[in-house]
Amino acid sequence: MSTLHGIGVSPGRILGPVRRMADAIDSPQDTDASVRQAPGYVEDSTARLKQAGQAVAAGLRARAEQADPAGADVLSATALMATDSMLHKTAGKALAAGRGLEPAIWEAAETVAAMLTSLGGYMAERAADVYDVRSRIIAELRGVPAPGIPDSATEFILLARDLAPADTATLDPVRVIALVTSEGGPQSHTAILARALGIPAIVAATGAESIPEGTDIYVDGAAGTVCTAPGDEQRVAAQAFAARAPLEIFDGHGTTADGRRVPLLANVGGGADAGAAAAAGAEGVGLLRTEFCFLGRDTEPGHDEQVAAYGAVFAEFPRKKVVVRTLDAGADKPLPFLTDASEPNPALGVRGFRTDTGAPGVLARQLAAIAEAAAAHQAQVKVMAPMISTAQEATDFAALCTVAGLPDSGIMVEVPSAAVRAASVLRPVAFASIGTNDLTQYTMAADRQLAPLSALNDPWQPAVLELIRLTVSGAEAAGTSSGPIPPVGVCGEAAADPALAVVLVGLGIASLSMTARALAPVAAVLRTVTYAQASGLATLALEAEGPAQARTAVRSALPILDELGL
Ligand code: PEP
Ligand code: MG
Repeated sequence: MSTLHGIGVSPGRILGPVRRMADAIDSPQDTDASVRQAPGYVEDSTARLKQAGQAVAAGLRARAEQADPAGADVLSATALMATDSMLHKTAGKALAAGRGLEPAIWEAAETVAAMLTSLGGYMAERAADVYDVRSRIIAELRGVPAPGIPDSATEFILLARDLAPADTATLDPVRVIALVTSEGGPQSHTAILARALGIPAIVAATGAESIPEGTDIYVDGAAGTVCTAPGDEQRVAAQAFAARAPLEIFDGHGTTADGRRVPLLANVGGGADAGAAAAAGAEGVGLLRTEFCFLGRDTEPGHDEQVAAYGAVFAEFPRKKVVVRTLDAGADKPLPFLTDASEPNPALGVRGFRTDTGAPGVLARQLAAIAEAAAAHQAQVKVMAPMISTAQEATDFAALCTVAGLPDSGIMVEVPSAAVRAASVLRPVAFASIGTNDLTQYTMAADRQLAPLSALNDPWQPAVLELIRLTVSGAEAAGTSSGPIPPVGVCGEAAADPALAVVLVGLGIASLSMTARALAPVAAVLRTVTYAQASGLATLALEAEGPAQARTAVRSALPILDELGL
């Protein structure tokens, strides 16, 4: 039996056949001139293109019938584009001008996408569909599988290099029973999605790309291991996992064994998420990512639209805490009207709160919309700013919030300078929430999207834990000098790892915010340790030589993890 090692990002033990995600299609080479100039080439090629477009459209329509309403909309829109007359006419002109079959459709798609982009708004969003059908048409012409998630009537383990955010629209967790990627880091989109769907997942599994299609493999999402020739032991483990008593529903009361309250909150990206989080027992919202209202737009959303979007979240949590994070544009979340796509180093660029300097007004208008929505609902609304680096920025943000009538303001600690200087950076605000995803990438100088750096990009890194400890002690100092101690929560992915959640509580973290699916497992594990035990485990992790030693030391002291298959 051969075992591959990656980083487990979503627990669960499962055995099943592998289906591979076909690679993206690269820009095609032109065919030989003698072929292109042969009599009948243009007519034959035009007919082949038409047929390929129809076949692609038919395949997409068939999938739309099986998909949920949101996925069906995406697939139906893409199907229409596959037979779009402008796309085919433009390709026909390129063929007539002497281009080969594949370059003709490739370049036609470029032209049509540019035209749609220039129209802006809804039309600009269709440009992605044009690129998608272009790849599908070329795959059809070549007789190879279409790029993207494979179609399958039966369950499978998806093997991919990494998933693009667009791939996730059609990922059906009923068919895709586990996810293994050879790239991607623990804070990547893939990892966040897998946790939200509750399917076992492993990222950065080097060697996974060579597992043949159809092979039965065993995935242990907690251990981060893939067995490529599973035996009886793995079969029994997978069966036992499938038959385990389901984790009790979270009862809405996060606590340690000795009764120390640790509110368990949800990370949400809009009203629908908030509804699911409320149903899962979340004690409130610890992170509302307001980008959902802005992304994919080329103009700022209007006041009423924003009020309605935020209100849809507040309505789900009457009398409960909802922490709204103001717009975090930039880096992997570019916005044409706010961020500069030509920055050489966008993660270190004008992103998060920093965009307020170059484009003042967007943040103040967002705060006004949040305040109006808050006034219309009973949720206890708080606001926090992303990417705060200095005490001056914290002061400026708090002042803007006061003007908007939102006195309960806080900051995210995701830049090491804010952690190191927490005693002064937290003084102007009422609370802090540590974004461990960005704090890890900036502490380790390791891009959170990059697989080769995933060992560095791990929130178990003792350096990251040390910064969390410093933030908590800085908050205590900020409080003793000028009033109450600002509570420090965590809303990065680290909070969703039940073992790391115990360490965070032991470090003095006051609340944990996570994807709704993680609430029950985190609550179940937290309830087995006293605060003193959690503090002891935090010390173990802080003193470990590296992240693997920290993880192993803490996990081996928490037998409940194995019992629950976490
Ligand atoms: C974080 O950085 O940990 C965080 C919660 O923010 P995001 O993942 O949205 O950057
Ligand atoms: Mg962040």
